[in-house]
Amino acid sequence: MREYHTATIGDKKIGKDLPVLVQTMYDSAIPHDNDALQELLRRIGSLNAIGCDILRFSYPTSGDRKSFTWLCKNSPIPLVADIHFDYKLALDAIACGAHKIRINPGNIGARWKVDEVVKSAKDNNVAIRIGLNSGSLPKGDESMPILMSNTALEYLSWFEGLGFYNSVVSLKASDVETTYEANKLFASQSDYPLHLGVTEAGSVVSSVTRSTWALGRLLSMGIGNTLRISITGDIETEVQAGVELLRTLGLRKGGIRIVSCPRCGRHSFDSQGFLQSIEKELLTVQKDLTVAIMGCQVNGPGEAKNADIAITGIGRDIFLYEKGTLVRKVGLAEAREAVLEAVRNAE
Ligand code: SF4
Repeated sequence: MREYHTATIGDKKIGKDLPVLVQTMYDSAIPHDNDALQELLRRIGSLNAIGCDILRFSYPTSGDRKSFTWLCKNSPIPLVADIHFDYKLALDAIACGAHKIRINPGNIGARWKVDEVVKSAKDNNVAIRIGLNSGSLPKGDESMPILMSNTALEYLSWFEGLGFYNSVVSLKASDVETTYEANKLFASQSDYPLHLGVTEAGSVVSSVTRSTWALGRLLSMGIGNTLRISITGDIETEVQAGVELLRTLGLRKGGIRIVSCPRCGRHSFDSQGFLQSIEKELLTVQKDLTVAIMGCQVNGPGEAKNADIAITGIGRDIFLYEKGTLVRKVGLAEAREAVLEAVRNAE
């Protein structure tokens, strides 16, 4: 049977037929004081609870060594160090216990410097993401997707020459079609794992739209092993969007599927506010349930029939349904807890 390339990132393995993993990137500098580190560790735990599998940090200075070592040791999910230009920082991050480093070999400089990094990653069982962005490639006459794919293949063969196979490739552009074409082309020529993302994709609406169009088509062809929905916004939202995309494509099972009404002139219950108040908590539940939040008695009961748990409101009276059956009426103030209790008790 043919062996496919896989990559091992801490306790996670990616590659053909293995689960597609969701990543995000920490949005601030690595803190140095104990309280802030503990708080960051709690946040990593919360990200993990809503479906984040891998977290990337920028590692811009060896002054972060102590904190990053502590984080690598204590994090519940694998951590990645993002390195630009300085190979010594890559060696440093590996020594800290990073589970993966992300480099663009073309930005590191002399070839021997990259060799040092690859050898150290090999000795320490650390994965390397070869991260190529359309803005940082060697010059060439080919179209951008061809240039991106060919450059990645050259780097992979260089790394293989050093006996290193624990590689992941990312080919990112802010242009959706370039990202799509580059990844499709690469996947037709190599089975090395791919990390997918549209870079600098903008705010929530534009990023989710662009990323879903590019990544959804790739993933539905079986291309892509990890992904990030890059949003100029909360990293929690990035994770939520990534998980939702995988669930929509049937690539991730479990978790709450939320159905909620968009609201119209008939609504007499603030389904939008209610959803905002409860969504984050529901995202942490791994039970395979559909929860419907409906704004009126017109569509509410009908939608409740198809949901495991549903609420619909008339003014301050909230009706709770389980498996399509009305089980109780509660006041608005009790509704949130009533839904969470029903979720907790659901089989
Ligand atoms: Fe309008 Fe009711 Fe449908 Fe919500 S559930 S969109 S309020 S008809």
